[in-house]
Amino acid sequence: MSAALRAGAAPDPRRQAATRAALLFAVAGALAIVQSLPLMPAPDALRYQALGALDAAIALLLARLPWHRWPARALVAVVPLALAVAVLFALVGRGLPVEVVFAFHLVIAVWAGLSLPRWTVLKCAPLFLLAQLIPHLPRGDWAQAANAAVTVTVMVTLVGEVVAHVVVRLEQARAESEQRARILRAVLLATQGFNTLRSDEVMAHVVSCVRDLGFDAAALSIIDARRGLYRLAYVSGFPPDYRDDVHPLDRGITGLVWREARTTVVENYRAHPAAVPALRESGFDYLVATPVRVQGEVRAVLFGARRQPQPLNGEMRDAFELLASHAGVALHNAQEFEAEAERSRQLQESASRDDLTGLGNRRHVEALLAGLRAGDALLMLDLDHFKRVNDTDGHAAGDRLLRELGDFLREAVRGSDAAARYGGEEFVVVARDGGPSADLVAARLLAGWRDRHPRTTMSIGWAVHRAGESGRQTLERADAALYRSKRAGRDRASGESELQEA
Ligand code: GH3
Ligand code: MG
Ligand code: MG
Repeated sequence: MSAALRAGAAPDPRRQAATRAALLFAVAGALAIVQSLPLMPAPDALRYQALGALDAAIALLLARLPWHRWPARALVAVVPLALAVAVLFALVGRGLPVEVVFAFHLVIAVWAGLSLPRWTVLKCAPLFLLAQLIPHLPRGDWAQAANAAVTVTVMVTLVGEVVAHVVVRLEQARAESEQRARILRAVLLATQGFNTLRSDEVMAHVVSCVRDLGFDAAALSIIDARRGLYRLAYVSGFPPDYRDDVHPLDRGITGLVWREARTTVVENYRAHPAAVPALRESGFDYLVATPVRVQGEVRAVLFGARRQPQPLNGEMRDAFELLASHAGVALHNAQEFEAEAERSRQLQESASRDDLTGLGNRRHVEALLAGLRAGDALLMLDLDHFKRVNDTDGHAAGDRLLRELGDFLREAVRGSDAAARYGGEEFVVVARDGGPSADLVAARLLAGWRDRHPRTTMSIGWAVHRAGESGRQTLERADAALYRSKRAGRDRASGESELQEA
């Protein structure tokens, strides 16, 4: 995802709450100081100033404590602290009017509603009540004060809890709109990725889009139903030993989704019977897996994994399934492309193969001639008196002999060399860089053929390809050498450069 599309880091909510509390204490401190201004009689003024200093000190402390390192519930301590200050206020002020007490408690309850979990204010209600009664204890009039205290407590609890509920609602709405924005971003980025026609890039892109949806890891496993296997082909965010793994299809969530053919949510992966050990260890406990279909058949499974669970709402499911359908199109294209390549490879091969012997045919010989390099040896082989085999034993026997020669050449010719049927009972062998030992190659072929005690011998003519010469010219020289072998009595080899016989 591009940096511009990434959301900025949110401030820590615990810090924010502590800062708000510090601000309230600072305001309370300022109020105390204002009370101590000239109108006050001297002893009270001093007490108010002491109270103001205490509030300021608490404000400073709250602002500086490392709240982000402590659990959120540590903030609950602010409530009794604030109530204690309110009590001090009431004691110093000797009978604060009930409206002022109400205002203090209201502010504390609103802060708690904003900053603490729901029902915390309700749990603190006895503290609110106590904080109103304590200032009356020394004066002995707490029984009369109780009525007002209960009313104030009920009111502030109500307000605090309403605020807490509204905050939770707002938080949910914010999370939902953030998720919506994330989905939109991922879908947008997904469409951008289709500028490429390369299927593997599209599939890798789909996996990265799943991570943009808010998943800690994502993968695409490709199913080979015929062999009962699946392979994790495109992986992002999972541990390295989980990549390119091949698993039997009766295991794992891939197998499950393949069988059920629908989007599946796994809430507690570690405890799931289909969990794969390598993934079980890595703490991904929440998994969404959706089938990737090619022409209605489940051919892959798209995964998103999170360490923390998250409910899968309709929009998220739609986005996930949309990405899976993109992967399906890419997979379909890749398979079509592969099948097409295989078809044209087969076509090409059959077009240049000789049906009788299985060797290359005349077309293949032309290709061999075109590919000759200086120093390559070209050998022409021709069965001796082959016509007689046909005439005495029949055409089928002739065919059998040609097939036998084909088998012999296939075995006799080295990996980088090639043999092909030029036509009739004539064959061509190319020995790469075989120039210096062409006579030995020819002798080896003659001896090998003789060792099979064939129905008839063969003659060979060879030539070494020269720089600047065409393949056809080399063939003509080899053919001339073959003619010499025939004339010299057959069952022998001649090279065109030296008129020696093998
Ligand atoms: P030489 O020693 O001079 O090469 O004599 P040859 O009889 O081998 O040569 P020739 O060219 O006179 O005869 C080749 C024969 O090969 C003629 C043809 O009927 C036969 N032939 C060509 N293609 C096939 C084939 O595919 N199968 C069979 N059985 N015979 C074939
Ligand atoms: Mg011939
Ligand atoms: Mg012949």
